[in-house]
Amino acid sequence: MRLMTPLAVLAGIFSASLATAEAQDYPTNPITVIVPFAAGGPTDTVTRLVAESMSKTLGQQLIVENVGGAGGTLGAARAAEAEPDGYTLLLHHIGMATSATLYRKLPYDPKTAFAPVGLVTEVPMILVSRKDFPANNLQELIAYVKEHKDEVTYANAGVGAASHLCGMLFMQAIETQMTTVPYKGTGPAMTDLLGGQVDLLCDQSTNTTGQIKGGEIKAYGVFADQRLGNLPDIPTVKEGGLDGLSFGIWHGLYAPAGTPEPIVAKLSEALKVALADPKVVERFAELGTAPVPADQATPAALQQKVLSEIDRWKPVIEKAGEYAD
Ligand code: ASP
Repeated sequence: MRLMTPLAVLAGIFSASLATAEAQDYPTNPITVIVPFAAGGPTDTVTRLVAESMSKTLGQQLIVENVGGAGGTLGAARAAEAEPDGYTLLLHHIGMATSATLYRKLPYDPKTAFAPVGLVTEVPMILVSRKDFPANNLQELIAYVKEHKDEVTYANAGVGAASHLCGMLFMQAIETQMTTVPYKGTGPAMTDLLGGQVDLLCDQSTNTTGQIKGGEIKAYGVFADQRLGNLPDIPTVKEGGLDGLSFGIWHGLYAPAGTPEPIVAKLSEALKVALADPKVVERFAELGTAPVPADQATPAALQQKVLSEIDRWKPVIEKAGEYAD
């Protein structure tokens, strides 16, 4: 047994009470929220809406920093290395779980490198194309891709992104590979789709709704069990003949592992307030999504989601055999 000297015990008590005092005062400075994708994309959109509301509750500005690249893993790595003091957070999506299998080497362990704060929202995916792409429904699209194969370009936000996962599942389902064009996020990918530089993209409704409604791009199918309330004319991919491709892109808020529990609890409470904010709820609905229920905006719910989603996607990714270094 190791005995502590009275001085070491006192020092321990002192530093613990210092941490509690710091947590009580938290936050006294602006907070950086890392978005692991480029500005203007769906993760960015969700983060900015939630951050604005949390800033009001916490009395300090939440500043979004876009750290795009490598399918979200660069930004996640940056957050994992940050000081665990509550002043650097990360808002990431399903890529937190899929990258655990997709990457042979990750500079962080998605299961242990973060202190989960809470789930934020779950967003449906929609398969879209440039406006003048020569296919007008999912069946025509599949026939065209099968005929033209890698002449067809598919934009994504890198290995580990939701757009990568969606493209991987789609190509696996139709047993045909296209040429993928990686971006730092689907914000810039959408810009190129609108400009006609790439053919296809599968992205969250939070980044496609406006362009579909405006007739600037074509939509072929929603990867959900039911059509979306905000886009009732777009069929599900199941209606278009592709079964078993229903999945949602969940987003979660994290702090680096080791962040004091009272700080994480404060952040989780502020997240709950943001998710009940009428402005957030209304904008989410316009974009085809909704905040998670309050009991999901908790560290335990997000931790459970990360672990169960790593297990869910592992065999799917292994079957596809797509890995990155
Ligand atoms: N939603 C995008 C994706 O995962 C990334 C982004 O938010 O820009 O493909």
